[in-house]
Formats: sequence, structure tokens, C-alpha cells
Amino acid sequence: MTTTHISGFPRIGKNRELKFALEQFWRGEIDETALEATGRELRARHWQLQQNAGLDFVSVGDFAYYDQMLNHIQLLGCEPTRFHFGGQESELDRYFTQARGVADEAPACCGGHAHTEQETRALEMTKWFDTNYHYLVPEFTADTQFTLNSLRLFEEVAEAQALGHRVKVSLIGPLTFLYLGKEKTAGLERLTLLEQLTPVYCEILLKLKILGVEWVQIDEPILCLDLPAVWKAAFEPAYNRLNAVGIKLLLATYFGALEDNLVLACNLPVAGLHIDAVRAPQQIGSIIDRLPHYKILSLGVIDGRNIWRTDLDRALALADDARARLGERLWLAPSCSLQHVPMDLSAETDMDGELRSWLAFAVQKLDELDALRTGLDRGAVFAEQAFTASRLALASRNNSSRVHNQAVAARVRDLPADVDRRRSPFKIRQALQRSRFNLPAFPTTSIGSFPQTQAIRSIRAAYKRHEVTAADYTKAMQAEIRYTIDRQIQLGLDVLVHGEAERNDMVEYFGEQLAGFVFTQNGWVQSYGSRCVKPPIIYGDVARPHAMTVAWASYAQSLTTLPVKGMLTGPITILQWSFVRNDQPRSATALQIALAIRDEVVDLEHAGIGIIQIDEPALREGLPLRRSDWKDYLAWAGRAFRISASGVGDETQIHTHMCYSEFNDILPAIAALDADVITIETSRSDMELLRGFGEFNYPNEIGPGVYDIHSPRVPATEEMVRLLKKAAEVIPAEHLWVNPDCGLKTRGWPETEAALANMVAAAKSLR
Ligand code: GLN
Ligand code: ZN
Repeated sequence: MTTTHISGFPRIGKNRELKFALEQFWRGEIDETALEATGRELRARHWQLQQNAGLDFVSVGDFAYYDQMLNHIQLLGCEPTRFHFGGQESELDRYFTQARGVADEAPACCGGHAHTEQETRALEMTKWFDTNYHYLVPEFTADTQFTLNSLRLFEEVAEAQALGHRVKVSLIGPLTFLYLGKEKTAGLERLTLLEQLTPVYCEILLKLKILGVEWVQIDEPILCLDLPAVWKAAFEPAYNRLNAVGIKLLLATYFGALEDNLVLACNLPVAGLHIDAVRAPQQIGSIIDRLPHYKILSLGVIDGRNIWRTDLDRALALADDARARLGERLWLAPSCSLQHVPMDLSAETDMDGELRSWLAFAVQKLDELDALRTGLDRGAVFAEQAFTASRLALASRNNSSRVHNQAVAARVRDLPADVDRRRSPFKIRQALQRSRFNLPAFPTTSIGSFPQTQAIRSIRAAYKRHEVTAADYTKAMQAEIRYTIDRQIQLGLDVLVHGEAERNDMVEYFGEQLAGFVFTQNGWVQSYGSRCVKPPIIYGDVARPHAMTVAWASYAQSLTTLPVKGMLTGPITILQWSFVRNDQPRSATALQIALAIRDEVVDLEHAGIGIIQIDEPALREGLPLRRSDWKDYLAWAGRAFRISASGVGDETQIHTHMCYSEFNDILPAIAALDADVITIETSRSDMELLRGFGEFNYPNEIGPGVYDIHSPRVPATEEMVRLLKKAAEVIPAEHLWVNPDCGLKTRGWPETEAALANMVAAAKSLR
């Protein structure tokens, strides 16, 4: 009999129970006991689902109230001393303090006071590999120590055992834990902490062994990254020590191929290896060649990163081949934790049956795993229903006219070679645009959105529920646009925006209007803590049946003689924040989206909008995990952007915007986008980020953000003048724009107006 297991399950709950319990707890409406009861109930429910699907183990260690890395920070006793915990706080108290920080008691007032920053900053958050999940970053200092400091994991093991389950525990491995953390003491090299960290892992393993746990999955996804040699060398000695405890270890790798770490991973002293056979099926053969005979191999054949129903015949064929060589040593699993997909398709009652039949969420993936095991052990006929459904889904996706649009295919086939080129080089465009717009030096603008007030949100929601007529909704939005335009004129901004009141989300707004996208009712995926997102699903060829933003932009432009900047989301950001097709490369989908955005850009130009911004905040996070894949990605992503931007004449000015990024390693690719103006987030790095642009001699115009929009603090004019002067040291002053770091939608009007007034004053003083 083939063993089946999973590396992790979504913890948020079918109806986001954990989210709501957390938020109630933070508001003080429920106590720890009630929160813990919700956690326990969810774990029990999720284990039951795993058992029902015939898995050999249920997964323990994947539950977290906020984040699994934070769980490990507590488990390993390395809570940063900067939090000054005194010992009287409860474990959960400390947990949430690290996750969320401690807000200053001082009122979040306006007027340039610096004291509204949080007194104790939360741990930094960053993306988990190339997913949209954010983990909390461990901090290491000279006085970091490790001790076994939390019993929560062991209690959860006992909890599952008491429910009659056979348990497999998953832990984040010591090397990955250190690698994903950050040194906070100059000169400290975090790898040196491994020496003290390993004994704590041994202690944990020993405790699990005493509890009767047979298998511990130890995740080392960094084995799919380009690792420095010292990190590679550190694995074997550490795993020798872990292995000496005498509990079976399953070394789990995922999100890519092992490549140069393949031999290392195969030979580490552990009892089994898990690999991602969805992203990297090509490695299976060489891994089996090298895997020592005493080890099991867990093949991750079901996609833990996407929502498509598995091609069971194909997965079975892979498994069959492996089985012929490994026999009972073959295990089957999803490629990675299922936390990256929504919970249960059965909650999608509005979706049409055909589309639904193409999908599998976490619960359905458990059933697929079960069917696959049956197929492998007894033959596909013994899981006929599942195999038939899989074949039908595949056939209907292959043939459906909802997926394949002849017109899109023809357009892509016949694209001219220069479709991604503006008509003239930047210098010529710049001259034409300068005489057209006649803007002052240091022109001022914003990034697009203005405060999304409660009033805006409720009218949008009412419209969505059909409680408001289209005419009334339009009127309400136009009133918001008028208000926003008036405020910007009052403030003296040079390039205005309509304010994005009609947009709930910068991807959803476009996805809802494009063909080839579908939205779920309940397809929530945890982004961080209690925050969940509902990514759109791109299932078919993307096309734009009608203009998406032209009416709003034209209305805004009709109110003023100043230029109004049209506002679009770029193809890579739309791609990156959606579930994408698996029947064509990402690059092909990006190209289709690019063409749809291109049509919108051209329509805006025809409507008299002379400046158009195409936001690409996700361009950098789309970078592949391995550097060897960067070039290819940057080539097709850059081309997609340029295609979206190049349908217009020379005198139309294209802006782009990027945020939360370090760009210095991809500056050539950013320059190659050839946007006339790029606005970027820089204020938090005190303009340091700009240095790279300067040294690179970035050719086009730049708007370095002069204030951080993440805080209600209103920076003084002098502060922004100082930043701009600093910027002018590295960027030619005649290329500089003046703008905030990012959109203002999370801010209130009073601080927005105060900050923008100071910003305009700063630009004037520089002029
Ligand atoms: N135009 C968008 C806004 O202003 C940009 C958001 C972003 O960069 N994330 O809200
Ligand atoms: Zn931004």
C-alpha cells in the first residue's frame, strides 16, 4: 500500500473562522480561552478531513494563530530581546506583540509630530519564497539564544493523538529558519548560530519521539535556491546530529528543483526525501538514481500552488514509473503545503458547473490524493469516478471556447516585431511631452488612489448587492471624483488623478471586466495573520470586451484643464496576484493581458488622456527563485509591459509605479521598460535606493517617493526638501518628479491634504 500524506493544510477555516476569532480577540471581545477553543476546533476539523481522505498521517505543526515562522520563533526561544518581555505576559500575548507591534499611546494626530510611529515595531514581514504568503522575519543579534520555550507543538500532537490520529509533525528546518532570518547586529553571521540551534532541534525531536511520533517532516525549501557554499556545507553536520535522535526524518523540499543541491539532498542522513514533482518533474529520475536504498521518496504530484483539478492519468503515470523503481518506498503527496490554495470548492455555489468541474481546492486535493493512491495500488478503475471527472475536466478545458479565443490567438500570432517599441526614443518623446504639458520643474503628482472613505466603500458594496442603480452609483462616484479633483487643484498639484474610488482592489477591478477571469465567492487564501486575499482565477484567453476606465478618466479630465493621469494595473501585477492557467506558460498569459491593457491605453489616449500610468508593483516579486531563470523572466515580463505601453504616440506620457522593492539588481530591466516616468517607493530608505538609479545613469524621469504613506504622520516641508535635495545629488534635477511613495487609499483626508500641501510647498521651494 502506498503511503499518502500532506505537508500542511489551510488553517484559516472554511468560513475564515480563525480570522474572525483573531480579530475579535484583538478587539478584546473574546478571551484567550475562546480563541484557543476556535483553534482547537479548526485543527480537529481539518485532521478529520485528512483522515477521511485516507491519509496515513494527519499533519501537526502546520497550525498557527498568525504565522508558522513566528511559531518557531517561540518554540526555539529566540524572541527578540527588544520586546523586553518581563515574564508576566502570556505566551499568546508575546506572540501577538511580535506579530503586530505595540502602538504608541499618543494620538495619531497630524502636524508633523514624529511620535505616532509605533513604540515597538512588529517583526518585519516578507514574502514566503515566491508565494503571496508573508512570514515574520526572525531577528538575530549577538545575544540571541535558543531554548525550548513553548509546549504548544507537543500539546497539539497530544491533541491529535487523543482524537485517534496517527501524527506526522512538520517543522521548519534549522537551516531554512536561519536563512530566512536577518542579522540585527553588525558583523554577525547568522549561520554561526546553527551550532547552538541544532541542540534545541534535537530536544524537540526527542520530545516528539517520547510522544510516540514516528515521522517528522523537516522543511528545507531553501534547498531549491541558489545557496552560498557555506550554507550547503552546513547541512550535513547539522543533520547528523538531528538524525542521532533516532526519529524518522522526512526532508521536505518544494517550490522548485534541487539542481546543484540534488546530491546533497539525496545523501543527507534522513529517512526520506520529499520533492516537488509539479514544478520540477524533470528531477525525479536523477533523484531516484541517487537515493540511498534505505530512504523513502515522497513525490509531490498534486499542485499545492494552484487550483486546477489534477490530470490524474498523468500523475499516475509519473507515480507508476517511480513505483516500478521504488516499490513501497514511494509516498505520494501534494507538492507543498496546501495553505496556498483555498479551502473547499463546495463553498462556490455561484460558479457555473463547467468552470467548477475544472477546479480543486484543498479539500478536493485530498480526495485526488486518495484516488491516486487507489489508482496506483489497485488500478484506475477502482477510483473510476475521480479519474473520469479528471479526464472530462481536461477534455473540456482543452476544447472549450471559453478557454480558447480564436481572435486572441490570431492577434498573438500576427504581432508585429516592433509591437513593444514606442515610436521614437525617449529623448524625442521627452521634448514633445515637455512642450505639450509645459509642466514646471519638479512636477508634483500622486500615485493614483485617494482616501477610500467609509462612504465610498458602502456605496460600492451596495451597488454590488444591486441595492443602488447604475445611474445613482455613477453619480456618487462622479461626486467623489469631483471632490478629489477639486482638492488636488486647491493643493496646487500639477498632474492630477481621478482617485480610484470605484476600485476595491487594483487587480480585481480589471479582472472583473476582462474575459478569461473568474472570481470565487469564498476562495480565500491567507496572506498574513488574519488577512486573507481572494485571488482571481485566469482560466481562459484574456480579452477586453469594452473599455474599463475611460469613462471615469474622461469625466475627471472634463473638470479641469490640468492634465489628468489615467490609471491602470500592469500585466505582470495582474498575472502575479492571480491563480494562472497551467495549460500555457505564464509568459503567454502575460502577453494576452498586456494586449488587453494596451487597448485600454490607446482608448484613453483617444479620449484625450495625455498621461497614463501602468502600475507594476509586483514586477520584482515575480522574479524566479533561481537566478539562472531571471533573464528569461525579465525579458518576457518587460516585453509584456512595453506592449501594454507602446500603442500610443510620442506625445503621450507613460508612467509606471513600483513599490516595496529593492531594484538595484534589476535596474537594466527597469530601464528597458522605457516608461517616460517611473515613481518608486524610496522615503523609508531615505533615498538610498535612488543611489543605484544614479550610478546606473537611469535614462528616463523618476519620481522618488518623498513620504511614507503607510503612516498617518505628516512630514514637514523641510524634511521633503531635504530628501529631494538628496535625490538631486544622484539624479539630474530636470528628471525629478515629486510624489508620495504609493497610493493614498488607506489614509484619511486630513492627513492626506496636510502632507500633500507640504509636498507641493517642498517642490515650489526647490524650483
Ligand atoms: N495606483 C495604485 C494606488 O494608488 C497603486 C497601488 C500600488 O502600488 N500598490 O493605489
Ligand atoms: Zn505602490
